[in-house]
Amino acid sequence: MPIVRVALDVPLATLFDYVLADGIAAVPGQRVLVSFGRKQVVGVVMECVAGSDLAVERIKPVVQVLDEIPPLPAELLTLLRFCSDYYHHPLGATVLSALPVRLRSSEPVTFKEALQYTLSVSGRTLDLSQLPRRKVVQHRILTALQAGALGAAQLRALSPSAPSALKALLQAGWVESVARTRNPLSNSLPQAGERTSEKSHTFSRAHTLTTAQQQAVDDVTQAQGYGCFLLHGITGSGKTEIYVHLMHQMLQQGGQVLLLVPEINLTPQLENYFRSRFPDAELVSLHSGLSDGARTQNWLRAQAGQARIVLGTRLAVFTPLPQLALVIVDEEHDASFKQQDGLRYSARDVAIFRANQRGVPIVLGSATPSLESYYNAQTGRYRLLQLTERAVAQAQLPAVRCINISNAILQHGISEHLLSALGQCLQRGEQSLVFINRRGYAPVLMCTACGWLSDCPHCAGKLVLHLQDRRLRCHHCGHQARVPHACPSCGNADLQPVGIGTQRVESALQEHFPKARILRVDRDSTRNKGAWNAMRQQIHDEAVDILVGTQILAKGHDFPNLTLVGVLNPDSALYSSDFRASEKLFAQLAQVAGRAGRAGKPGEVLIQTAFPDHPLFRALREHDYDAWAKILLAERQSAGFPPFVYQAMLRAEGKQQAGVYAFLQQAREAATTLAMPVEVYGVVPAAMPRRANHSRAQLLVQCVTRKPLQQFLRAWRPLLDALPAQKLRWSLDIDPMEF
Ligand code: ADP
Ligand code: ZN
Ligand code: ZN
Repeated sequence: MPIVRVALDVPLATLFDYVLADGIAAVPGQRVLVSFGRKQVVGVVMECVAGSDLAVERIKPVVQVLDEIPPLPAELLTLLRFCSDYYHHPLGATVLSALPVRLRSSEPVTFKEALQYTLSVSGRTLDLSQLPRRKVVQHRILTALQAGALGAAQLRALSPSAPSALKALLQAGWVESVARTRNPLSNSLPQAGERTSEKSHTFSRAHTLTTAQQQAVDDVTQAQGYGCFLLHGITGSGKTEIYVHLMHQMLQQGGQVLLLVPEINLTPQLENYFRSRFPDAELVSLHSGLSDGARTQNWLRAQAGQARIVLGTRLAVFTPLPQLALVIVDEEHDASFKQQDGLRYSARDVAIFRANQRGVPIVLGSATPSLESYYNAQTGRYRLLQLTERAVAQAQLPAVRCINISNAILQHGISEHLLSALGQCLQRGEQSLVFINRRGYAPVLMCTACGWLSDCPHCAGKLVLHLQDRRLRCHHCGHQARVPHACPSCGNADLQPVGIGTQRVESALQEHFPKARILRVDRDSTRNKGAWNAMRQQIHDEAVDILVGTQILAKGHDFPNLTLVGVLNPDSALYSSDFRASEKLFAQLAQVAGRAGRAGKPGEVLIQTAFPDHPLFRALREHDYDAWAKILLAERQSAGFPPFVYQAMLRAEGKQQAGVYAFLQQAREAATTLAMPVEVYGVVPAAMPRRANHSRAQLLVQCVTRKPLQQFLRAWRPLLDALPAQKLRWSLDIDPMEF
């Protein structure tokens, strides 16, 4: 009896057996429709076997084999099994969560043909001087098409207004569209070793590599099979240029490239940048901002081997790539590579497993590598590639200075020194950036008479004052309320904002520099779709003098006229309960500092702190990541923290505090009775002990090596599943990043 063992998206760790009707065949990786309980659901065949342990009459038949798309490759199934195993997440839930939403339903999948555009007969004979010269984009498109057919995405890279120009050209009959490729759905996957016969990929070679860049490229391309490379290069040292050269080589050999970037970095600009560097290679992006339909199409193009470059956020690590030849993880230290719910995977770590499984090189790039990766490079597990200078010779690193605020008088959190530097920058006609990692007007509102504070009624946090719409908002649960006219506790009318946020800095600066054009960039001001892109354009057009913003501004943007960066309030990270807080702060400040003085103008960074002698600030001033990393590593070693130990965190939350603690206590007892060589800590409140009326607590388990921890978790997990856990949610987080 032909049985298929199917992965279903249910919270049970097992696969489910179904029988295939006579004459129907299925292979592992294929999607099937089966009945489960009273519903019909889509699952993925993981195994085909001859018999089942279940009684024949209890095995239900497969309703339908969904064979309109090729089965998931065996390699991907292995990867997902590994993830399920390592992260102790049910296999079915793991497999289904890796698929685009469309493919988790039985709705028919239709493949949209990608169109290509070519010159028509009349277009080929057209005398370009007949076309008015002001139709710049039409000229550009016609010229580009003279060299050969192009896809819509490639045309879009020519100009933002390419779509309307293209439409005009189609209407005029000078350009026509043709189907680009065979339908990948109707065809089997390219065989391993089969090279696509497209013309060799050209790329626009803008720069001759520096010696250090060339060395890094050579090291990677000369690697045989798998190798993990940590590319540590200061901001502006030309890491992106190295990626481009490596990608070029791999594409030429017929390979596909997977390029993972942090969530916040994946802008259309980045997509266009890589498209413009590889005009002949099909590039697709994969991220949560795409519509379900677009994401499915892009995924299918990657699976079919047609998309040669996949540019995506963490979820893209699960894309089937039959010709995968190179993986790049840019800004590898970024926290957004770790998923914080469901399958709590680190896309960086999964990418490393994937490269290893495939036998191809992987490059982890960063100006401030995570301590884990840095340590792995120190111990020789990864190979270190270093770029210590900026690629553009005249681009100097900014001068970093601290402003000691212990005794300084501050106006809305801003020192006299910083104000005068901002004023001079304005006079020179250059841009400046004031960085503060807190949105809103002030983090809390206080009564000057009785000390009442604006606590969130549902959380352990405070309500943040937002003056623009005069509301108090909780940044944890979303609760909001009108700003009271008087103290709710004593009736006093004098309520004062305490501390500073972006809105307060913005209004203070506006008052101080009435003529300056100030732009605030934070989650509130960029909420509307397209808002951030419009702002970037404004900044580039130099329609802005002073930027006030949060981390959104820190990452990977090149603003050539920006020469001064001010940093407000970085100190709280120095005494945070999260042992990674200072590591993150350094990375963040190094990144913001990297915004200053990119294009030949010297830059300056002024950090307001009460601890100017702290080693973190010393290392920043000296641009010495290594010194800082060594200090941190020594601290972590003596305290017994990662990367010297491996950790797993059991978290629980529920409305009843007693229930939450009882569950974790029982989990702890179960752990200790296992008597395995791991350290089991006590049950403690979470960093945010109450959120949205739920009590939250956690239990940490750790071990100096990975294997015994994994063995322990395998034994512990079934015991956890067996514990009574009514009215609470719990989860296991392997290699947790949040404490
Ligand atoms: P990173 O990714 O390390 O921040 P980029 O690759 O963006 O650095 O390079 C920074 C700047 O230097 C860019 O403007 C880039 O065009 C330029 N650049 C990179 N490599 C070279 C090179 N070999 N010669 C000249 N300019 C270069
Ligand atoms: Zn009061
Ligand atoms: Zn709240």
